[in-house]
Amino acid sequence: MKTIWLKPGKERSLLRGHPWIYDSAVQRGGGDAGETVRVCTSDDKFLAWAAYSPQSKIRARVWSFDEAQRVDAPFLEALIHLSTRTRAQFPIKSDGIRLIHGEADGLPGLIVDRYADTLVAQFLSAGTERFKPIIVPALLAATGLQKLYERSDSGVRQLEGLPPATGWLTEAVGDTALSIQEHGWRLGLNIQEGHKTGFYLDQRDNRQKFSEYAARLQFKRVLNCYSYTGGFTVAALAGGAEHVTSIDSSGPAIEKAKENVALNGFDLGRCTFMDADVNGSLRQLIAEGKSFDAIVLDPPKFAPTAAHADRASRAYKDINRLAFKLLDVGGVLFTFSCSGGIDPDLFHKIVAGAGNDAHVDAFICERLGAAPDHPMTVNFPEGEYLKGLVLMKKPHAPRTRIAKEDAQVSASDKA
Ligand code: SAH
Repeated sequence: MKTIWLKPGKERSLLRGHPWIYDSAVQRGGGDAGETVRVCTSDDKFLAWAAYSPQSKIRARVWSFDEAQRVDAPFLEALIHLSTRTRAQFPIKSDGIRLIHGEADGLPGLIVDRYADTLVAQFLSAGTERFKPIIVPALLAATGLQKLYERSDSGVRQLEGLPPATGWLTEAVGDTALSIQEHGWRLGLNIQEGHKTGFYLDQRDNRQKFSEYAARLQFKRVLNCYSYTGGFTVAALAGGAEHVTSIDSSGPAIEKAKENVALNGFDLGRCTFMDADVNGSLRQLIAEGKSFDAIVLDPPKFAPTAAHADRASRAYKDINRLAFKLLDVGGVLFTFSCSGGIDPDLFHKIVAGAGNDAHVDAFICERLGAAPDHPMTVNFPEGEYLKGLVLMKKPHAPRTRIAKEDAQVSASDKA
C-alpha cells in the first residue's frame, strides 16, 4: 500500500473532515494516478484513504477517514446507492435531477445527472477515472436505467492530467437531444452539445421562484441575461410575463431557447432573442432608453477560485450596476454568482456597491442558492458555489454626490 506523509501541521483541515490535500501539504510519498493511498501525518499517524492525483494541485482527494474502510467495489456501490436514495427524499419537481454531486456525496470528482431515462456522468478526478469500471455498473444498478453518457470534457480534467472523454458508456444508446419536465414546463436539452452535462439543474427552484414573481407582480418586460437555453425565459412566460428578451453569446443556446419557448406553446412574438455579449448589450439597451420590470443576471463563473476574486468582483459589479440602471422602480432583479471564489458575503457587498454606483437602493427580498439535489456539506465550504439575491428597486432617494464621479459613471456607460 502506497503512502503519503503530510508536512507537520498540514493535517488540520483533514481532521476537520475537509476532503482535499494540496500538493504543498505533502512532505513525501506518492502513488499512480487515481491509486488509493494511505495519508499519514509526518509522524506516521493514519489520517485518511485518498485517491492520489500526481499532476493536480489537489494532490489527493479523500475517500474515507476510517482506517478500517477498504476502498473497493462494495464501498463505492454503497455510496452511489446512498446518493440516489437521498435524492428520492428531496422535494424535486422534475425528472432532471443531480444524483451525485461530488464531494458532498463522498465521491470527489464525480458528477451524475439524470435526464428522464438517461444518465450523464462527469469523471473529473483521477480517482473516479480509475474506478470508472466499478462506478458505471453501480450507477445503472442503483437507478435501474440502461443509458449512460459520459461528458468528461470539462477543463478540470486537464488539471488532473486526464484527456477529455465523451460518448456512450453503455450498450444501450439513445438520442442525445432529450427533454425533461421541470415544474409546469418542458425543456429540451442536448447532452452531447450542451454545457456541462447539458443543462443547469442547479437553478431549477430559482426558475420556479422567478415564474411565481412573474405571476404575482405581473411582469411586462423581462430581460433574461445569460439565458442559455431559456430556462428563466420559459419560467417567465409560464408566469404570464408579456415580453421576454433573452441574451446569450452562444448561438446554439439561443436556438435551443427558441425551441423551448415553442415546445411550451408560447408565442415567439412574446420574445426577443439576442445572440450577443451581455455587457455590451446592457450598455446598448441603456443608450436606447429601454427599461425592464424584471431582470435575471446569471453569468458564467467569473472567479473559479479566490485568486480570481478581484477581477471577477469588478465584472460582477459592472453588470449589476448596468442592470440596476435598466430596472424600473419597483422592478425585480434576480442576480447570481456561481463562482466558488466569491463567497455570499462578498457577493452581497459587490451588489451593494453596484447599487451605490448606479445611485439606486433596493430591498433584499430573498437570498437564493442551488437546488437541494446539489447539496452542501458542513466540512466542504467550497460546495456553496451558487448564490443569488432577489432585489426590488426602491424609489429614488436623493443623495450627496460628487460631480466628477458622476461624470465618470455616465462616460463609462457610453463606452
Ligand atoms: N440561466 C441559465 C444558465 C446560464 S449559464 C439557465 O437557467 O439555464 C451562463 C450562460 O452565459 C451560458 O449560456 C453562456 O453561453 C453565457 N455567456 C457566457 N459569457 C457570456 C457573455 N459575455 N455574454 C453573453 N452570454 C455569455
